Amino acid sequence: MTLWVEDGPDSGSLVGMQANHNRSGDAKDNLLEHLPKGECVEFKRKKKWKITRASLTSTAPLPPPPRTYEGDVTDRAPAGGSGGADVRHVTLVRRRSLRWLLACVLVIGVGYALLLAHPQPLFSYELQHAGMVVHATQPIPDEMRATLDRARARLNTSTIADPERVHHVFMCQSRWLFALLARNHYQAGGIANVYIGQNVFLRESDMQHDRLIGASARPTPPDRPLSYFIAHEIMHVEHGRLLGAVGYSRLPKWADDGHADYVARDIDLSRALKGLQSGAPDLDPARSGLYVRYHLMVAYLIEKKHVEPRDLLEHPRERDAIERELAALQAW
Ligand SMILES: [Zn+2]
Repeated sequence: MTLWVEDGPDSGSLVGMQANHNRSGDAKDNLLEHLPKGECVEFKRKKKWKITRASLTSTAPLPPPPRTYEGDVTDRAPAGGSGGADVRHVTLVRRRSLRWLLACVLVIGVGYALLLAHPQPLFSYELQHAGMVVHATQPIPDEMRATLDRARARLNTSTIADPERVHHVFMCQSRWLFALLARNHYQAGGIANVYIGQNVFLRESDMQHDRLIGASARPTPPDRPLSYFIAHEIMHVEHGRLLGAVGYSRLPKWADDGHADYVARDIDLSRALKGLQSGAPDLDPARSGLYVRYHLMVAYLIEKKHVEPRDLLEHPRERDAIERELAALQAW
């Protein structure tokens, strides 16, 4: 809040500084009484009136100063003056500023949503193969066709994935571009925008050798090639298509990433079970960044409990109960 003071003795600056440390309700009034003409003081409502910043060095008259009070202290404005007009003026300015701010936020939000839904203008190169369209900022090598074939082969193992659906995969060959599109997931290998556009964005990759370049700037290991990331992220889009936006928002992470991982690659389930029972770091997604634990849980439900993938996603079981059963399992 800003208060304009019309008159007061020269010693007002000293009073203002003292008032700065005065948390009593009189601080504001003291300053009003003593500050020189034209001074601008800012108050902030925090428990009681507390002066948060005082401009005490300005000597030039401020054009044109409102009469006395304005803003949130109108209930204390003296009757009969022109303070009411000033209050209305300031209120109007504030409302206009707020509208401009909201309009700017809205324009930026809509623009960003359009960018997520249609990022093609940022990607100059395109390759359509195996039911996928790859967009890239650099020329796409022919070896990428084999990578897409491997991803398609994984997707074809799923009873959830729609073989007729064409997926768009955007290869972000620079960190800033991936960060722009992945936001707070900028350190992930890839991201699927299930709610807007249903596009897949992947970070820098070595497309010639079927490798994704991780956040550590090193290629991912052979058991998680680029084709794995493509299939994994596309499965998130398929989950969203199957469940709808509301259903997908309720899908537990273990089921979402577990089933995406289950489709996208094979793991040694016996070793994973032993790792879960012994508390191996690989089995802790928060520490390893891997989904082996979730993968194992989904594999257990599908292969041991004969749960249909669609049922698993539409009616996910309680995580703790599955983990208890896995902990008691003698062997895979
Ligand atoms: Zn995932």
